[in-house]
Amino acid sequence: MQLRYSFRLYPNGPQRAALARAFGCARVVFNDALRAREEARAAGLPFVASGVLSKALTEAKKRPERAWLGEVSAVVLQQSLRDLDTAYRNFFDGLRDKRPRMGAPRFKSRKDSRQAIRFTANARWSITPGGDLALPKIGDVRVKWSRSLPSVPSTVTVIKDAAGRYFASFVVATDPAADLTRMPQTDTVIGIDLGLTHFAVLSDGRKIDSPRFLRRVEKRLKKAQRALSRKVKGSRNREKARVKVARAHGRVADARREFHHQLSTRVIRENQAVAVEDLAVRALARTRLAKSVHDAGWSQFVAMLEYKAARYGRAFHRIGRFEPTSQVCSACGVQDGPKPLDVREWMCGACGTVLDRDINAAVNVARAAGLAVSACRAQVGPVLVPAQREEAGTHRDGQSTVVGIPGRYAGERKSIDGSSDL
Ligand SMILES: [Zn+2]
Repeated sequence: MQLRYSFRLYPNGPQRAALARAFGCARVVFNDALRAREEARAAGLPFVASGVLSKALTEAKKRPERAWLGEVSAVVLQQSLRDLDTAYRNFFDGLRDKRPRMGAPRFKSRKDSRQAIRFTANARWSITPGGDLALPKIGDVRVKWSRSLPSVPSTVTVIKDAAGRYFASFVVATDPAADLTRMPQTDTVIGIDLGLTHFAVLSDGRKIDSPRFLRRVEKRLKKAQRALSRKVKGSRNREKARVKVARAHGRVADARREFHHQLSTRVIRENQAVAVEDLAVRALARTRLAKSVHDAGWSQFVAMLEYKAARYGRAFHRIGRFEPTSQVCSACGVQDGPKPLDVREWMCGACGTVLDRDINAAVNVARAAGLAVSACRAQVGPVLVPAQREEAGTHRDGQSTVVGIPGRYAGERKSIDGSSDL
């Protein structure tokens, strides 16, 4: 399996200048090639082949007005042409309905928020014994290795983001046989409901919220955005505020990714099979709530679950379309109609079980995938008997189905389960 590993880079002054040059040259090569193809199309000529563009690049370097292309690794420039080919292929495949439709390749700009160059295996880049990233015509760049690479990477992409931070993104092939033995044996299965009240609710009754470090950076981002909106357009202070917002955005994205990695690894470690709802369906149903802070996170989290399941030999199920997971009673299977979003607990009209909306949905997601999970965690109760102090911290079995006042002890349940933290 091919995986990406990203690390923060800390280039020094001259290296930053060399990278800026490389970004610029890669952009010019990309734009020149794109222009050649656009002009050919406008003139009714056939699509310009990659080989022709590649030769044109070699010729261009001999011309004085493009001579500075020689200051940059030739592999980086060739890769830029290949990136254009990929952009065209994706565009054409979209037109033929082979993949989701996307726009035609667009000219790159110096003002793009993300600048990137790619070094393939034949670019003679390397990791030095001292742990620096040695890039041709740029130098040995300091790397912050936050985790270890499972094997020798084949390519590295160097990225500069909107906040002015540099990253190295390595493509690494993992060893499938070794990966399969890396996670403990288990026969536990689980369903996950990705919700609005909690980031995720598991069919075993756990409710998981964003960790405090993520909430903290999100708060800071909001503050920075408010400050930016107050600044006068075109002013120097606005530019400063814009950089602050970009940095805060970066921190939120990093913290969110970290949280998704932690949670997805934990779910995969603990379970032999995982089921989640198909988010595309969800997103449609909830367009009104599209502003939810969770939105950006769901698909990233599910993608992580999926590749980690594949990597570590766990089963992964996506529950398809229109399964009414929040309408069916997980205790008796009766479907008794939609419920407004503010109904957090409800009593099944058929069997009288009082159910927690989110956990009930998670149980139904698992069931829809054919996973045998117990419904008992979805049941709220016994609602009429308040928990004793010394019971706090223990898991209750919740077998009984006593009818009581729905919602009365909802807050208590959370504290008893005590597992909303990671
Ligand atoms: Zn029922």
